[in-house]
Amino acid sequence: MGIETIGIIGAGTMGSGIAQACAVAGMNAVVQDVDEAALARATKSVSGSLERLVRKGTMTETEQAGALARIRTTTRAEELAAASLIIEAATENEALKVKILRAVDALAAPETIIATNTSSISITKLAAATSRPDRFVGMHFFNPVPVMALVEIIRGLRTSDATVAAVTALSEKLGKTPIGVKNSAGFVVNRILCPMINEAIFALQEGLATAAEIDAGMKLGCNHPIGPLALCDLIGLDVELAVMEVLYGNFNDSKYRPAPLLREMVDAGQLGRKTGRGFYDYAKK
Ligand code: NAD
Repeated sequence: MGIETIGIIGAGTMGSGIAQACAVAGMNAVVQDVDEAALARATKSVSGSLERLVRKGTMTETEQAGALARIRTTTRAEELAAASLIIEAATENEALKVKILRAVDALAAPETIIATNTSSISITKLAAATSRPDRFVGMHFFNPVPVMALVEIIRGLRTSDATVAAVTALSEKLGKTPIGVKNSAGFVVNRILCPMINEAIFALQEGLATAAEIDAGMKLGCNHPIGPLALCDLIGLDVELAVMEVLYGNFNDSKYRPAPLLREMVDAGQLGRKTGRGFYDYAKK
């Protein structure tokens, strides 16, 4: 199945990045958002990002103009109907996603595949909001989308092989490396990454070593490019806590309990880089 026009719901961080990746790969992207300002920010962010590629010499001005011309923004959900694949990348809220998916299911052609970029909600559950659970799939991109190579392709209970094959081929066309994952909380990457970060927070809380020593240990001892506590500051401590709560809630296994220090820091509003302070102090810089 050839996918030429991709519909994208949500023009935030992820929606704009997905639109850029599609346009650079030669596909048309129709980006829909309820918020005009978000659409304007998305256009600005994509053109700024492409401008930097031109300055670096990795893209010509003609390619830049071509990619920008392939992105259309709209507040009207009906304009998504022309797409052969629609990727939902709206705010992470189950009730909102169900509402959006019901509406898009009603307006999309029967053969259209609908994908969701959710980070934590069950693909099987979201698929049930549509009349096409066989043509519904998770496509979990990573931030920033134009840079990060991975896409987790998540199969819900009723996702068909043809749907998985189509979105796998599309991910490759976008220059990404897809991995197939069964529907399960945290999928693969967050299931492994977030408990590792949580364990680093337990180590800090228990006074095993300082934050800088824990991070140095994982960088030098495991060849990680960044230490787990510095990474948590980058992701946001509130996001780390939310993922651990999803894992704990789904598996009911104490190994996923969030570290008390993580909860305490979130309560204090110490969320990492975005608030100027997490495990490290960024206010000085
Ligand atoms: P964001 O807050 O930057 O953007 C969400 C956008 O959705 C906003 O522009 C908002 O106006 C729009 N929106 C809200 N209701 C809408 C509606 N009814 N119709 C159309 N648009 C609507 O969020 P984000 O970080 O881009 O995340 C989007 C999705 O991607 C979430 O499900 C999130 O879990 C997932 N995700 C995020 C990351 C990340 O690092 N940010 C990584 C992987 C996956």
